[in-house]
Amino acid sequence: MTEFRPETRAVHVPQPPVEGSRPITMPLYQTSGFTFDDPAVMADAMGRPDGAFVYGRYTNPTVRSLELAVAGLEGGAAAIAAGSGMGAINTVLLGLLQPGDHLIAQRSLYGGTAAMLNELVSRFGIAVTYVPENDPDALRAAVRPETRLVYLETISNPMTLVADLPGMCGAARELGIPSVVDNTFATAMLCRPFEHGADIVIHSTTKYLAGHTDVVGGLAVFADTALYERIWHFAIELGASADPFAAWLTLRGLQTLALRMERHCSNAEFLATRLAEHPAVEAVHWPGLASHPSYELAGKLLPGFGGVFSFDLAGGRAAGERFMSSVRLALLAPSLGGVETLILHPATTSHRALSADELARSGIGEGTVRIAVGIEHPEDLWADVSQALS
Ligand SMILES: *Cc1c(COP(=O)(O)O)cnc(C)c1O
Repeated sequence: MTEFRPETRAVHVPQPPVEGSRPITMPLYQTSGFTFDDPAVMADAMGRPDGAFVYGRYTNPTVRSLELAVAGLEGGAAAIAAGSGMGAINTVLLGLLQPGDHLIAQRSLYGGTAAMLNELVSRFGIAVTYVPENDPDALRAAVRPETRLVYLETISNPMTLVADLPGMCGAARELGIPSVVDNTFATAMLCRPFEHGADIVIHSTTKYLAGHTDVVGGLAVFADTALYERIWHFAIELGASADPFAAWLTLRGLQTLALRMERHCSNAEFLATRLAEHPAVEAVHWPGLASHPSYELAGKLLPGFGGVFSFDLAGGRAAGERFMSSVRLALLAPSLGGVETLILHPATTSHRALSADELARSGIGEGTVRIAVGIEHPEDLWADVSQALS
């Protein structure tokens, strides 16, 4: 480069080769594209998912590292990282469905997913039938010749209903219909839906996978390469791609996922058990309690129940609002899965779009509080929650 003038040398900086040693952690490849020595290699890379790295919207070594890591944890063949959980969900839904198709989804869904399914119905001519998350017979009865997809969530928000994945994914498989499972609340540490017959697993990596409330991201993992390749071609056109820095932060979070999940689960158990005994609390919706509708199934399917649960305050909406303004350590915020404990009043925030009827059908009361338990000391969390209750 010494033959060039300073203006040119400032643009083309040296890239020292890494030889004789390797970085311990996956480096951040903060580049939007790649340059080639051979034009034929470049042409080849643009047409297939396993070619040379070519352009950031396709993938990137840091993003690919995350895709491989999560595909490995889930036991899948390949993954596509996206800029958000909704980006991953829409990559799959729009990549597989077309007007006239029919989809079967469980009744209680993440709010963004529920809103997107309404869009598919009203603007894209796709029909949706809702069935309970634990009723394979209802699924079989809902099937039509044009049914193309079954959509489930391992653990639902905020009532923590656990889907009967063996029953539901098994029924879909018998019928030859691919099933998609949003595994955000459980993560691969508590559940691997492919082991129960799922074809695609979705993650909002924003939540437990990244785990530190500093990144938004998503991921779709595929059980087999045929489905992956089909959606990959659509995904690079849709452009919901992940940013390398977000992927890098998520990789860093992933390394402590197992440790964090253990603490999220034990803290949630500690709080749920104490809340269930408190006179100001009418009900606690946590699958580890015998009163929860998913208690038996959850015990068989999951080694732990995650860090999110909800509870109903005896005093209704007023009590809910008073509780929200009385906590000091827990933070009023949407989202979940980070190290900090967050609380939310669904009736006035995440589920405000639902009518009173729809709220009641989802089991969400006026006094329901959702808590996404962090990894703080459990006694500090209980001290905060109990002072807010009184
Ligand atoms: C948050 C969340 C999503 C959406 O993910 P974003 O990263 O916010 O786009 C989807 N499903 C579940 C279960 C979630 O909790």
